[in-house]
Amino acid sequence: MEIEVQLTGFPIAEKIFPPVVARASRPFDENQKLAGGTPAPLSHGAWLEFRGVVRGEEKGQTISALEYEAYPEMADREIRRLLQEISARHPCQAVKVIHRVGVIPVGETSIYVGVASPHRGEAIALLAEFMDRLKQDVPIWKRRARSAEHRLGANQNTVGNTPSRCSALQPCSLDEAISQIVSHCPPLPSVRAPLAEAFGRVLRETVCAPEDLPPVDRSTRDGYAIRADDAAEIISIVDTLHAADWKPRQLKSGEAVRVATGAALPCEGLRVVMQEHVERDGDKLRITKHESTLNIRKRGEDVKAGSPLVTSGARLDAGRLALLASAGCAQPLVSPRLHVVHFTTGDEIIPPDQTPKPGQIRDSNSILIRGLLQEFPCELTQSHLPEDFETAKQLISTINHQLSTINLLLVSGGASVGEKDFTRPLLEMLGFEIVFSQVNVRPGRPLIFGVNGNRIAFGLPGNPLSHFVCFRFAVATALACLAGGEPPKFLRGQLAGKLDDKPCPRETLWPARWEWNDSTPRLRLLPWASSGDITCLTAANALVRVPAHCAGLEDGAKVDFLPTTPIIGGGL
Ligand code: AMP
Ligand code: MG
Repeated sequence: MEIEVQLTGFPIAEKIFPPVVARASRPFDENQKLAGGTPAPLSHGAWLEFRGVVRGEEKGQTISALEYEAYPEMADREIRRLLQEISARHPCQAVKVIHRVGVIPVGETSIYVGVASPHRGEAIALLAEFMDRLKQDVPIWKRRARSAEHRLGANQNTVGNTPSRCSALQPCSLDEAISQIVSHCPPLPSVRAPLAEAFGRVLRETVCAPEDLPPVDRSTRDGYAIRADDAAEIISIVDTLHAADWKPRQLKSGEAVRVATGAALPCEGLRVVMQEHVERDGDKLRITKHESTLNIRKRGEDVKAGSPLVTSGARLDAGRLALLASAGCAQPLVSPRLHVVHFTTGDEIIPPDQTPKPGQIRDSNSILIRGLLQEFPCELTQSHLPEDFETAKQLISTINHQLSTINLLLVSGGASVGEKDFTRPLLEMLGFEIVFSQVNVRPGRPLIFGVNGNRIAFGLPGNPLSHFVCFRFAVATALACLAGGEPPKFLRGQLAGKLDDKPCPRETLWPARWEWNDSTPRLRLLPWASSGDITCLTAANALVRVPAHCAGLEDGAKVDFLPTTPIIGGGL
C-alpha cells in the first residue's frame, strides 16, 4: 500500500488529488464517487476522503482556533506503522494523510485522510479504524484552544489547560520565545493578487495543471515532419506550419509538413527531420542523414493535466510565478501584503547624511530594517520618535488611526528598563498585551513581543547587531507565520575553526558565515565584541547557536545554525 504522510503548518488545500496507483483488477464503478462528487480516476474502485474541521466550541467554550503540536518524526512513523497494521485487515491501495499543526482557525481542516481501494468497504473500514487509533497512538495533540475574544483583540489569549510558559516579566528561553511567536501569529486571510504583485508572497492554494504541458506534440527543430515509420525515398511537402499554426491532419507515407521550431504537429506518430539533414528540390525532399531522435516535445512531457504545479505554502519566486503564468493562473490565492510601521527612538539618532556631534549616532537601523523586510512583501512606513515620552505620545496620537490597521509594529531602541526606555509603556498604551519582554539570548536580550488582536509588535534593542539577530529569529518568524509560510528553521552544520570564549549564562546567536563542504554546511564564526558591532553584518549569512555556559567548541563540532540567506543546493 502506498502511504503519503504530511505534517504541515499550512492550510490544507480545498482540493486534493487522489494518488495514481496501479490499475485495479476491476474497472472503476461509476456509482462510486468522491466525497465531493467527482469520479475517482480509473485506477481505483473507491477514493474516500475525510476532513476533520475545527469546531467553534471546545469544552463548552466558544473558541476561534485550536493549536496542535506534534513530535513530527515520531508522528510520521507512527501514522505509517498504524496504517500498515490496519491495512493487513482492510487491504487498500493508497492512503494520504495530511495533519495540520500550529494554530488552526475554526472552520479550517485539521486532518485530511484520503483512501484509495478496490472496493469502498475496505476504504471505509480502514479510515474508521485509523481515526479511532490516531488519537491514542500518534504523538499529535491539542496544545490549547484560543478563546473567541482573542481574535477580537481582548487581552486574553488562552483558555484550556496549557498555561503559557513565558511570563511577561521573566526572561524566556530562545525556544519558548520562538514558540510564543509562532502561536500568536496565525496566518492572515488570503487574497487574490495579480501575478505581477505576487512575488515573495505565500501561495495559499495548490495550483494544478489545467491541461497537459505542452498541450500538443511540438517540433523542437526547424525541419520536416513525416510519419515516424516512413521509409519513402522521395517525400512531398504538403503543407507548412509556423509556431502559431494549428492545422490537424493525418500524414501518409511519402508526405511531409514543413515545420518551424515550436510548431504544433498535425497528428501523432510523427518525427521531425532537421532541415540540415535533407536535400530539397521545390516541394520534394530526400533525407540525407537518418537520426534516431524524434525531435519532438511530446504532449504532457513537462506536466500532466491535474498534477500539482505549485503547492500551498510555497513562496512565490520568479520560477514558480512563471509556471503559474504558463498554467493560466493569473490571480493566485496568496498571503496579503503586510502593513508595517517602524519607529526609531532616541535623541542621539541623526540621519545618515549628517555629521554626528559628540554623543550623536547615525541611524543605521532604519535602512537595516528596510533591507531585511525586502524578503516579505509589505508596505513600510518609518518615522522617528523623540526621547520624551509625552511628546512621543502626542506624535503617535496624530497617526493612531493608521496604527489601528497595521499588521506589525516595530520599535527600535528603548526596549530595556532605563528611565528613558519607553517602548514597553508605549506598546501597552497602544493596547498590546506583552507576551515577553526579555529573552535569554545574546545579543538581543531586551526583546519585547506584544499582541493586540491580530496586530503584532516588537520592541527591538537599539544596537544594530541585536537588531539583526532579533529580526532573524523573532520578526522573520512572525512575518513568515502571518503569511502562512514556513518559519525560519535551525539547521545542523559543522564549525570551521574553534570557539574560545568566556562562558555566558545566556545562549548566544553568534554571527557566522557558512559555506558548503561536501554537502555539509561549514560555519566560520565571525569576530564581534559587542552588540553595537556592525562590521560582521557584511559577512554574516548565519547565526550559530552556542549553548549557555559554553566556554568553547572544537573545530568540526556539530552546531545548530539559523541561515539568514536562502540555502540553495546541498543535502540538508
Ligand atoms: P537603546 O536600546 O535605546 O538603549 O539603544 C542601544 C544602543 O543602540 C544605543 O547606543 C543607541 O544609540 C543605539 N541605537 C539606537 N537606535 C539606533 C539606530 N536607529 N541606529 C543605530 N544605533 C541605534
Ligand atoms: Mg535609546
